[in-house]
Amino acid sequence: MKSGLFRALALSAILVLSLAFSGCEKAAPVLDALKEALDREPVEEIVAIPLEEIPPPPEPVAMEPVVNKDARVGILGYHDFTEGDSDNDMILNIEDFRRQMQAIKDAELPVISMRQFLDWKKGKADIPAQCVMITIDDGWKATHTLALGVLKEFGYPFTAFLYKNYIGVGGRSMTHDEIRELAANGGTLSSHSVSHQNMSSRGGRSNESYDKWLLEELQDSHRFLVQNFGDTGAVINTFAYPYGIYNDRVIELAKEVGYEAAFTVNGKKTVWDVENMEIGRYIVHGTTLANFEPSINFGGGQITSSGRKLMTATKTDEGETEAPLVTVKPTDGSLIGNRLPLIEVDLSQLTSLDAESITMRISGFGKVPHDYDTINGLVSYQIPQRLRLEHCGVQVSFKHEGSEEYETIGWSFQVKRIADYLSSDATLPGSNKALPPEAEPADTPTASL
Ligand SMILES: [Zn+2]
Repeated sequence: MKSGLFRALALSAILVLSLAFSGCEKAAPVLDALKEALDREPVEEIVAIPLEEIPPPPEPVAMEPVVNKDARVGILGYHDFTEGDSDNDMILNIEDFRRQMQAIKDAELPVISMRQFLDWKKGKADIPAQCVMITIDDGWKATHTLALGVLKEFGYPFTAFLYKNYIGVGGRSMTHDEIRELAANGGTLSSHSVSHQNMSSRGGRSNESYDKWLLEELQDSHRFLVQNFGDTGAVINTFAYPYGIYNDRVIELAKEVGYEAAFTVNGKKTVWDVENMEIGRYIVHGTTLANFEPSINFGGGQITSSGRKLMTATKTDEGETEAPLVTVKPTDGSLIGNRLPLIEVDLSQLTSLDAESITMRISGFGKVPHDYDTINGLVSYQIPQRLRLEHCGVQVSFKHEGSEEYETIGWSFQVKRIADYLSSDATLPGSNKALPPEAEPADTPTASL
């Protein structure tokens, strides 16, 4: 059975390779080598690899990504960090930073990388409906000595905006090796100018010399990063304006020299069609921690504590367990084998629901046109295109009649990677049972929300 799976995977690899190499003279030896490998007896070590460790074969068919244009990103901007108290808004205590990273995790907000962000803006790939991006400016040493450890702990990608004149110059600047370590641990390296001056200030320059200076600030800084760190693959051509200050000419030239996006400091959620050269960030203040809370608050989509209770089983005085008032499918925390699941939430136990107020949001789709079966109290949505995310979150918000307060419930489930390559009636290796549409539901709802 297991070797059967190995063969199936290898055969699909052959199929993909034949497509990839069609018309190419190198195809024949590659295919021969693969066929030969298949003719050999299966090797025991391969059979023993646990299912979740088998790398998935390449996507057999290229699919158009579904880009969620309703998605919103809270982009955070940090500067320097300290282990002590901070009396400077640009320096944040590292434990406060850790608590903020934990708050992002507790809110179940995915953290996306700069590459993911740009791909979404270009309509090439999708991001979760609500997510966060982390940026750190200037190149302070504590980015490496303090923040990197926390970011690694959480596994969050981040972007360091560095300015040329403050790279490897001693004092509290990062060395080249330290910057390389950022790049090797989820860091994207991008430009923050050459000299970190206010770019909208002409300083008495003529038009010609102002342009020349702006071009240096924009181009030399990026060129320097490419020359010194280009081999890490972490340099991406985005820019952060020093002090967040720019004018129309700065924008024009930034576009002209090929920046894909440029970042300012005015905190608001980034939506899909926001101008690429004026992307806002929430600059977190070291003394007051201002701007952090709004960055992760996505309004009506926040799961309410009463919403959380609705999904939790309770114990009666007699010690009996009472089922949660609201039940969902696929169940919270489950692992499903079907990439086209029916998402369903049973609200029949709730009275005086305002039907008009119900909204459903799903990772990768944003707000979806759900069905509401008023007789059975079921709110549902049939996923129309195969889920491409391994982790899928659902949020349902509603009001009670006569109330202005929204109740929001949320849960998530995971999709088996292997589900991509098996039809719904396929069998799992080592099992004679057909793959169930859903994994076994947990006995009690998980407390992972
Ligand atoms: Zn700066």
